[in-house]
Amino acid sequence: MSAPSPAKSKSKSARKALSPEAANLQRSILHYLKYKMGRDLESATRRDWWIATATAIRDRMIERGLDTYKAHRVGNVRRLYYLSLEYLIGRLMLNNLINLGLHEPLVEALADVGQDFEVVRAQEEDMGLGNGGLGRLAACYLDSLSTMDLPAVGYGIHYEFGLFRQEFVNGHQVEHPDNWLIYGAPWELVRPEFTQPVRLFGRCEQIFDDRGNFQWRWVDTKTILGFPFDIPVVGYGTKTVNILRLWASKATEDFDLKTFNDGGYIEAVREKAYGETISKVLYPNDKTENGKELRLVQQYFFVTCSLRDIIRRHFSNPANGWDNFADKVAIQLNDTHPALAVVELMRILLDEEGMAFERAWGIVTQVFAYTNHTLLPEALERWSVPLFQRVLPRHLLIVYQINDHLMALCEAKWPGDNEKKRVISLIEEGGPRAVRMANLSVVGSFAVNGVAELHTRLLRAQLFPEFDALYPGKFINVTNGITPRRWLRACNPRLSALINSKIGDAWPRDLDQLKKLEKWADDPKFQDEFMAIKRLNKLDLAAIIKRDCGVDVSPDALFDVQIKRLHEYKRQHLNLLHILALYRRLVQNPDLDLVPRVFVFAAKAAPGYDLAKAIIKSINAVAARVNHDPRVNGKLKVVFLPNYRVSLASRIIPAADLSEQISTAGKEASGTGNMKLALNGALTIGTLDGANVEIKEEVGDDNIFIFGLTVEEVQALRARGYNPWDYYHADEELRAVLDWLGSDYFVPGESPNLPAMVRASLLEGGDPYLALADFRAYCDAQARVDAAYRDRRRWARMAILNTARVGKFSSDRSIGEYADKIWKLKPVTVA
Ligand SMILES: *Cc1c(COP(=O)(O)O)cnc(C)c1O
Repeated sequence: MSAPSPAKSKSKSARKALSPEAANLQRSILHYLKYKMGRDLESATRRDWWIATATAIRDRMIERGLDTYKAHRVGNVRRLYYLSLEYLIGRLMLNNLINLGLHEPLVEALADVGQDFEVVRAQEEDMGLGNGGLGRLAACYLDSLSTMDLPAVGYGIHYEFGLFRQEFVNGHQVEHPDNWLIYGAPWELVRPEFTQPVRLFGRCEQIFDDRGNFQWRWVDTKTILGFPFDIPVVGYGTKTVNILRLWASKATEDFDLKTFNDGGYIEAVREKAYGETISKVLYPNDKTENGKELRLVQQYFFVTCSLRDIIRRHFSNPANGWDNFADKVAIQLNDTHPALAVVELMRILLDEEGMAFERAWGIVTQVFAYTNHTLLPEALERWSVPLFQRVLPRHLLIVYQINDHLMALCEAKWPGDNEKKRVISLIEEGGPRAVRMANLSVVGSFAVNGVAELHTRLLRAQLFPEFDALYPGKFINVTNGITPRRWLRACNPRLSALINSKIGDAWPRDLDQLKKLEKWADDPKFQDEFMAIKRLNKLDLAAIIKRDCGVDVSPDALFDVQIKRLHEYKRQHLNLLHILALYRRLVQNPDLDLVPRVFVFAAKAAPGYDLAKAIIKSINAVAARVNHDPRVNGKLKVVFLPNYRVSLASRIIPAADLSEQISTAGKEASGTGNMKLALNGALTIGTLDGANVEIKEEVGDDNIFIFGLTVEEVQALRARGYNPWDYYHADEELRAVLDWLGSDYFVPGESPNLPAMVRASLLEGGDPYLALADFRAYCDAQARVDAAYRDRRRWARMAILNTARVGKFSSDRSIGEYADKIWKLKPVTVA
C-alpha cells in the first residue's frame, strides 16, 4: 500500500500556467509533503499526498474559522450547541473543497505535479462515528448550520474505533475494527488547553455549608480527563466555519498515582487503561439499547465535557452571567443519548453554583430541546437504578428531585390519578426499577420534535399523550433533510453539471430551484441526457459490483436498491421474498418477459442481532444461486455490497433507478436514504411510513409506487389478532417461497440453517413486522414498476420529476425550521 506514487513525467513545456489559487495550493501541498511527511516527489506515497493535500486545505478552513470565532465572540451571539453521540461524516476532502470553492484549483494543482485528484481523495478513510440515519443527520445538519451562517458548535465523542468494517465470509457478516485514526486524521486540531475533568462513581454525603444550609456533596469519585479535537465545518459559498468538537478520554496522572500509592503498579496501570477505554469504541447498535455500564459512562463523559465547555465559553465574556445563560445558549439533544445533560446542568447549578432548585430548573428548561428519533420500544433508553446509582449517585438524587417536581405538576393537573403518574414518572416501577431517559428529555426540554409529520403525530398520540396534555405546544414537527452539497453536488457531478446547464448553479443553496427542471420533464432531449447520465453512473457502480462482489451486471437492467441498516422493521426480508418469487417464476418459465433487474443491497447488522445476520446470510445465499443459474439468463442479479458506509452510499445512490423504502407503516420515524435517492432521480417503492408520506405529497401520486398497510390498518390488524399463517395458507406463491427459503436448498449441508431461521421468524415467530401481510401488495407494486420501466419516456419523466420536486428535503429547510421555531437563532455574517 505504501508504494511511492511518482509524478507521471510531464515536460515543463507541456504545462499550462497555473491559476494563482492553484499555484498557492500547490506550494502549500509541496511544503507539507516535505516538512510534515518528510517526502520528496519521488518517494511520496499516495497516502503522503493525501495527508499533505488535506493539511493544505485545512489551512484555508482555519483562517475562516478564526474569523468566524471572532465574529461570534465579538457579537456575544446566541449559539446553538448540537449534542450527538454520533456523527456519520464519511470522507471530507471533496465536500470541503466544493464548499470552499477550491475544487477546480486543487485538481489543477495536483495534476500539475502528476497526481490524480480522484486517486488522492480515495485514500481518505470514512469517518464512521455513527451507526446510520441519526448520525448522518447530525453530519448533514452541521453542513447546513455553517452554510446558513448560523453560530453553532457540534459536540461528540472522538471514538478511536468507529462503526465496524463489514466483510462477508461464505455469506456471513464478519466484523473488523475500524481503525480510522491509524494513519493520522489531518482534518482535526488538538485543543489541549480546553481539557476537562470528569468525575465518576463515588458516593454522596450530606454537609452543611458555611451559611448553615444543607448541601449534598459527591465524594470519593474517580477522575478522568476529556481531551478535545476540533474538526472545522465549512459552509458552502459562505465564510462561516463552525467547529465539531470531539472528546477523547484520557487518564489523569493523580488518578493512577493514588492507586499506585494504595495498591501498586499493575492496578495503577489497569485503572489508567479504564480512563482511556471510555472513548475507545462506538456502540454498534442502531435502535436498540442494552444497558451496559460503559455506555452510560460514555454518555456522562460526553455531556459533562460539553457542558463545561459551553459554560466556560459563556463566562469568558465578562458581560455574561447565569441570568443571560438561556439567552445565549440553546442545546439540542439528538435523541436521548445526551439526556444526562439535563441532570448534569442541574447538578452544576445546585451543587457548584449553590442555586435553589426552582431557579436552576428555570434555567435548565429554557436551554434544552430534544429530538425524538423512534417509537420502537426496544430503542427507548432506560438505565437500571442500581447501575445509575453506582456510576452517578448524585445525579440519581437529582433525578428523584426532578421527579418530585413532575409528580406535583401531574397531581395539580389530574388530582388523584395514579395511573397518569405511573406513565409520566421518570422512574419505571414494577419490575427492575429504571430511569426513563425519554421522559427525562421531555420534562427537561422546552421543545420536543419528531422528524416527519407522521412520526410527530404518532409521538403525540401514542408515545407521549400525557405529556402532550401536560405541556401544550411543546411537541412540534421538523421533518428531516439531507445536505444537497454532499448528496447531489458532490456525489453526482454529471447530473449536477446537467442541472447547472439548465437552471444555473444556485440550487445547492436553494434546493427549491430544482422545480425549474419540471419544464423539461417531457422534453425528449433532456430525458435522453438525464437517462444517459443515470446509465453512466450505473456503469461506474457496475465496476464496483464487479470488484467487490465478482458479479457482472448490465447498466441496461433496472437497478433496484435497498441500502440502510439491516433491521426487521426495514424489511429486507420482504424484498428477499419478492426476489424468490421472481426467481421461481423464471425457473418455471424461462421465457417469462421480465424487465432485467439488479437487486442491490448494502447494510450492516448489529453484531449481536442474530436474526439480522441471518437475513444477510439468506440474501447472500439466494444471490449465489440466482447469479449462477443459467435459466435466469441474466434477467435477475442479486448483489450485497459489503461495508455499507457514507462513501459507498455516494456511489450507489447516483446509480439507483428504484429506491426500496418498505418499512412496516409506523416504524420508520423519517428515513433520509429515501430523500437522497429521490433527489438523484430514483423512484420510490414504499409504504406510507415516515417521510415517504411527504415525498409522495411532493412528487405526486403518479411518480411513486405506494403499497401496503397504512398505520391505521396495521393497528386494526394487530387488534384483530394478526396470524401470519393465514397469509401463508391463502397465497400459493408466498407459501412456496417461504418453504423454499426454509429448506436447505440455498445452504446445502450448512448448520445452523439461517434461512430456515428467517422463515421461522415469519411464521412460528409471529412475523412482528407484518411482512407476510404486505407481501402480495408489494409484488403488485413491483409489477407496476416493471410496467413503468418498459416505457422509457414515462420512466424518464417520472425520474426527472422526482429530482425536480424534492427540494423540500434539503437540510437547509430543516435547519431553517429549527432556527425559527426552536432555537430562535439568527444568522451572523462573517466578514
Ligand atoms: C442516509 C444514510 C443512512 C440512513 O438511511 P435510511 O434509509 O434512512 O435508514 C444510513 N447509513 C448511511 C451510510 C447513510 O448515508
